Amino acid sequence: MDRARITIFDTTLRDGEQSPGCSMNVQEKLRLAQQLDRLGVDVIEAGFPIASDGDFQAVQKIAASVRRPIIAGLARACTGDVDRAWQALQGAAHPRIHVFLATSDIHLKYKLRITREQCLERARDAVRHAKSLCADVEFSPEDATRTDVPFLCQVVEAVIAAGATTVNIPDTVGYTMPEEYGQLIRTLREKVAGIDKVTISTHCHNDLGLAVANSLAGVQNGARQVECTINGIGERAGNASLEEVVMAMRVRPDHYAFETGVASEQIFAASQMLAEITRVPVQPNKAITGRNAFAHEAGIHQDGMLKNPLTYEIMTPQSVGVPDSRLVLGKHSGRHALALRCEQLGHQFERRELDEVYRRFVVIADRIKKVQDSHLLELIQDVTNDNGAGQKFPPAATPRPFPRAAAAGAGANSADLHPAQVSGIAGQAKMTIPFSDHHSEQEDYLWGV
Ligand SMILES: [Zn+2]
Repeated sequence: MDRARITIFDTTLRDGEQSPGCSMNVQEKLRLAQQLDRLGVDVIEAGFPIASDGDFQAVQKIAASVRRPIIAGLARACTGDVDRAWQALQGAAHPRIHVFLATSDIHLKYKLRITREQCLERARDAVRHAKSLCADVEFSPEDATRTDVPFLCQVVEAVIAAGATTVNIPDTVGYTMPEEYGQLIRTLREKVAGIDKVTISTHCHNDLGLAVANSLAGVQNGARQVECTINGIGERAGNASLEEVVMAMRVRPDHYAFETGVASEQIFAASQMLAEITRVPVQPNKAITGRNAFAHEAGIHQDGMLKNPLTYEIMTPQSVGVPDSRLVLGKHSGRHALALRCEQLGHQFERRELDEVYRRFVVIADRIKKVQDSHLLELIQDVTNDNGAGQKFPPAATPRPFPRAAAAGAGANSADLHPAQVSGIAGQAKMTIPFSDHHSEQEDYLWGV
């Protein structure tokens, strides 16, 4: 079967970041952008440069250091926005200006207070201006799914003539149904002159839980780019979830003759990193990345799984990077295994930082025997915070006083400690034993997932 390549456009750092409680600082955005790069997304929408200085800086920093993917900056359809976006994108290896303007009557009348003619003109002018700066220009008619279809066709035709290379069709309010959305994409392909020269993109919101279904319907009807976010975060009920779109195509290649460039084994790390940065946990039953997504509790399921995983498993946890729960940390491989586990949780450390993580880990592992991911993430957070505060880690060879926490902890049954409590332990362990002083009991700690 000939497989069409779908462009994965990640907007976790722009649309995702707009969701309540999900704002990120420049450093955090850069970290996540690096993980998105490892994940293999094609486009990273890094921010909305005119919205704030922080957003501008984030786009600028990401453009300068993440070189493989296309880096997009969002702009309203006006010269100031487009210029600001272009300024932020200067250092990008592959820049894209993403211009948007609402086209539905309700938005034109109440939000923008302009006529359809003015809308058409504004869209055309902004795209023309963007094109004079940057070869790669995307246009989004906001609220496209509630826009009068003939008018939508007119706008799309005008922006293509003005130089747009990607036309994105947002279901901004999460209103549409899969069949309707698919039909809309098909209509655009049939009616709009020049549409075969550009990439059609989907951008679906999840207000009715249909964002992924709508995106896939769009792809089946000719869209070749999907806009999505890690963990499906985004305005209100969120965007289409990247991991669900990608894995639907991967698990059902018989149904979807498409492929993406995503390294699915990096999905879990990206999901965990986002949850840790935003402190917004993943819903336990979230498809692909929730902690129960691969858990089998019912007896009959467990029995089937033991006989043959295919009885209840349509994809392996390893295929999306969920760590092997049987990973054992040993005395000699300890640091290496810990580094691997950190990486699987979305954290890569330099030698000095890893030393510090390891030191604190040993103290915790001595006490609670079974170190959960949540414990480890708390510990990593502590180390990252200390580092960010400019404190220098002690050199690995410098002896430190033996910590009270470790000395007093023997015998405590703390396997079920709340992460916050463990964080306390981690905190006490900050000025702790040198690397060579730890005990041998850590050889056989089992990791829980
Ligand atoms: Zn959106």
